[in-house]
Amino acid sequence: MNVLVINAGSSSLKYQLLNPESGVLLAKGLCERIGIDGKFTYKADGKATKDAVDVSMPTHAEAIQAVMDALTDPADGVIGSMKEIDAVGHRVVHGGEAFNKSVLITDEVLKAIEDCIPLAPLHNPANLTGIRACQKVMPGVPMVAVFDTAFHQTMPARAYMYALPYEYYENDKVRRYGFHGTSHKYVAGRAAAMLGKKPEELKLISCHLGNGSSVTAVDGGKSVDTSMGFTPLAGVPMGTRSGDLDAGILQYLMNKYSLSIDEMLNILNKKSGVQGVSGVSSDFRDLTDAFEKGNARAGLAVDMFNYGVKKLIGAYAAAMGGVDAVIFTAGVGENSAAQRMAIASGLEFMGVKMDADANKVRGKEAVISAADSRVKVLLIPTNEELMIAMDTASIVK
Ligand code: ADP
Repeated sequence: MNVLVINAGSSSLKYQLLNPESGVLLAKGLCERIGIDGKFTYKADGKATKDAVDVSMPTHAEAIQAVMDALTDPADGVIGSMKEIDAVGHRVVHGGEAFNKSVLITDEVLKAIEDCIPLAPLHNPANLTGIRACQKVMPGVPMVAVFDTAFHQTMPARAYMYALPYEYYENDKVRRYGFHGTSHKYVAGRAAAMLGKKPEELKLISCHLGNGSSVTAVDGGKSVDTSMGFTPLAGVPMGTRSGDLDAGILQYLMNKYSLSIDEMLNILNKKSGVQGVSGVSSDFRDLTDAFEKGNARAGLAVDMFNYGVKKLIGAYAAAMGGVDAVIFTAGVGENSAAQRMAIASGLEFMGVKMDADANKVRGKEAVISAADSRVKVLLIPTNEELMIAMDTASIVK
């Protein structure tokens, strides 16, 4: 079975053609500058690569057509015809409270995704455009929507409610939704496989640490709390996002500097986080380099981030009444041995004991805790596209 996974943005579209059973990636690439001019990138093992070549893309439909042409190209393609694509899995950012799992796309589903636009005004419209373009180019091929928020819909009310007047929840759907759900679900499933246990038997803390970061408590295979909130601005400090902060700061700064709410939110989303604290970069590699050359603020930014993640691990262990394994994933979690060590050390009191040698690993599944550590610490590379393909396959079968 072949599943095409689509992640559509407003002017870009990422794609992967995968076999969800074997996990084999047949081809992947990116369409950029849709609606402007159009750049097309395509990679498949052992085939000629196209790198940002000019392809006219007035709309997402031409972008999808370019993907089809490349996949079925007699010389560099990986399939004979479009008939060899059994289904399409679409990443959709926000499913609100309407979706607690992936679903086959129907007219009602499209309407419900539209209803969630106020919750994700930048992302859901782009995701919808991608779905409609695919439907146009690939009529009759079953399509599935996989939501970033769905995995977290199992959170209990005490975890998802904000302590605001209740009507803002009832009337306006203001609550914690959480994001990165596809990634947390994937690594939690892999953790159970690595530990030889059923997901129902495990209490896990999944740390997705990348440019955007979130930490999730997974009890018995279900998300019971997560650090991102109503929007992906909440939680630990991120590349350029502030993470949690005292809302009183907004009033203070907005008054003092005559900032509009849009200007303030732009600061919180784009100019804060480790970038804002360090003044150096949003990229953790640059921060480590700068710190080694004596930049104390770069060191402070990384330290604040690591401390934020550590505090959440403690909080979620308390929330679940224990933890069997802590998982590190995404750019920082998969690559930075030093940050994994900084985050997990000092947690010996709750049964976490790292193995410094085992931790000298990058980008592959590994147990990085000591043999006698009561709580296992796992490195698990995330694979959101494979998770989307797996969900899609299970729904269309
Ligand atoms: P995104 O949220 O954009 O998907 P990623 O999961 O790709 O982000 O993570 C990007 C982050 O991972 C960057 O901040 C980058 O610095 C960090 N990263 C990648 N490699 C390393 C490394 N070797 N050491 C520390 N951080 C790394």
